[in-house]
Amino acid sequence: MVTSTGAETRKNSESEGPEEMISTEHVLEELVQQEWQEKQEVLTNFLANREKIQNSPEFKMAFNLTDRTIRCVDEGTPGGLHCAGSCILLGLENALARLKTANADGITSHEGCGAAVAYCKTAGIDPSLADTVAREWAQKLAQASGLPYKGHITAEQMARPVEMHNAVCAYYDDTGQMNPALLKILPPGFVVSRKYFGGDDLDLCIQIALGDHGFGKRFSKENPFYVFAVSGNNNSEFSAEELAAEARATVEKYNGRVALESIILPV
Ligand SMILES: [Zn+2]
Repeated sequence: MVTSTGAETRKNSESEGPEEMISTEHVLEELVQQEWQEKQEVLTNFLANREKIQNSPEFKMAFNLTDRTIRCVDEGTPGGLHCAGSCILLGLENALARLKTANADGITSHEGCGAAVAYCKTAGIDPSLADTVAREWAQKLAQASGLPYKGHITAEQMARPVEMHNAVCAYYDDTGQMNPALLKILPPGFVVSRKYFGGDDLDLCIQIALGDHGFGKRFSKENPFYVFAVSGNNNSEFSAEELAAEARATVEKYNGRVALESIILPV
């Protein structure tokens, strides 16, 4: 388009442009609808069988981290420990203190990071630079903490469609051990490692899910986005009641479009 003449541009926009646009939107709409149906099915099944699933021996498989590398809360970056934008919203000093508490073993960044976009907006940086900003932040944090930078996870490497967030829930994890992606029976969701990192991340997850990059308006009082407050009896920072109360303060802002449930691991 940059090299085309004005006449060609007009011709394109008259003949191919609008059709292309409609076709792209149509494909995306189909993808969103298909993802919505699939993920709602998993969510509905989980909600209907929660007690059975939570008491089954295989449920423990979702609490078995194989590394302590910092990743974003994004549902596309499963495993390890999760803080929005790999701690980009915390500031360096706070991030370093929390990494130490978390006993982290490395830092990642990822493409298409909503937290990095939020950071750019707050810091007065052009949001189109978010990808570079995310990468540079993670490298800076790695250097300052002495931990290895374990790379930039590309959109293609992520465990969700490149085009959208397909999370139907968020796991507000106070066990510091959860990887819901290990268990297909668990609905796909953001993970906030609340045991080590800040509570504000939950609000960001909800905003993404209910916004244009998530299922958006499909979340309603009838089909809410779920927040699961996850505690382990021996391994948690807060009591299950404290954790739920904290999550509730965020959930309540969304007029019934977000529901809260507690998951308490058996001892
Ligand atoms: Zn992110």
